[in-house]
Amino acid sequence: MTSANYDRQNLRLSAAQEAQCTDFLQHLVQTPSLSGQEASVARIVATEMQRLGFQSVHTDRIGNVIGRYGQSGGPILLLNGHMDTVNVGDLSAWKHDPFGGEIIDQKLYGRGSVDMKGPLAAMLHGIGILIAQGVPLPGEVVVVAVVQEEPTEGMAMRVLVEEEGLRPDWVILGEPTLMQISRGQRGRMEIRVATMGRSCHASTPEKGDNALYEAARLIFGVEILNARLMEDAVLGKGSIAVTHLATVAGSRNAIPDRCDLVIDRRLTLGETALRALAEIEALLQREDVRGRVNTGYYRSTSYTGYHTEGPEVYPAWLLAADNPLLLQTSASLEKSLATRPQVRTWGFSTDGVYTMGEAGIPTVGFGPGDDMLAHTADEHIALAQVFDASRAYAHLSIDLLNYLSTHTLS
Ligand SMILES: [Zn+2]
Repeated sequence: MTSANYDRQNLRLSAAQEAQCTDFLQHLVQTPSLSGQEASVARIVATEMQRLGFQSVHTDRIGNVIGRYGQSGGPILLLNGHMDTVNVGDLSAWKHDPFGGEIIDQKLYGRGSVDMKGPLAAMLHGIGILIAQGVPLPGEVVVVAVVQEEPTEGMAMRVLVEEEGLRPDWVILGEPTLMQISRGQRGRMEIRVATMGRSCHASTPEKGDNALYEAARLIFGVEILNARLMEDAVLGKGSIAVTHLATVAGSRNAIPDRCDLVIDRRLTLGETALRALAEIEALLQREDVRGRVNTGYYRSTSYTGYHTEGPEVYPAWLLAADNPLLLQTSASLEKSLATRPQVRTWGFSTDGVYTMGEAGIPTVGFGPGDDMLAHTADEHIALAQVFDASRAYAHLSIDLLNYLSTHTLS
């Protein structure tokens, strides 16, 4: 490592760099990127990484865009942001064009501004600060803009780690935290149940066995079960909710012989998919319902044509309160932002289900923007927070890589 002749106080965006960061974010928001349709936004991200001077920029098999800065062979810090967004929903609920990228009172409006194009812009431009000032790093910072996080969180990170062979030591997720720290989240799974009956003419219902009535008993049991699920002191209680129901019948004047239900199950720490399935089986037995229980299964094809599939199970994860990543992140943010960040957890699910939940890579969350605005009409982000987060990511890259290069992690 060469002698560090940069000035820590100056590790921030200049006025010109702030303007470029704003333009970039505006361009991202103006480019729709539903999950599986991230090609255009991926090109914009790759071009911006090249313009900022990232050392290597490439797109992997599933379409993640990866840019690196620093020195290879040492520790690796991964900054993660997803490129996809959810749909706009009811357009009449929006006062601002969801793809306009309008700026009013220094807030940028549009779908994805918070979740999470704003944080992604902050990450790229944060590392851009280090590149522009030639700050040497005792390792590498890798910015990864991932695909398809919204429907199948963790899946694109699994491809990056298990198929592309990237092995980060620590991961920072830029999902919005309002500049605080998140150290975990409940997991989730999708459960599918089919209740079985026997069809007959609807004019003589007593001669058949209505699968919808079977489902009704199950639904009642699910509502009661929700109040009784186990609780984790930090992540809170698991939850269960029926979110979809459809009958299968020959016609509207036939008794349905099958009813398909979708159940959203949030898993707190200590709850497993096996346990969640067993609870439903027990419910069926108690309520004397004939039915089949299965884990949901996704199949998807990325914009690069890469096919993935797997069970819809996303485990809970929580970084220990004394984990060095949490302590070092906290200390670094306290210096760069001149305020002590709070440590909390997310209510929603993130790529951490894979990085920490499955791969066991220490993972922490820090990002600009209010997570309560994610997926809402008139989603927006304060530009000042994006700029502050850029500075924070620059400092985090130095501080965390310095720590990693001088400590052996057990
Ligand atoms: Zn998100």
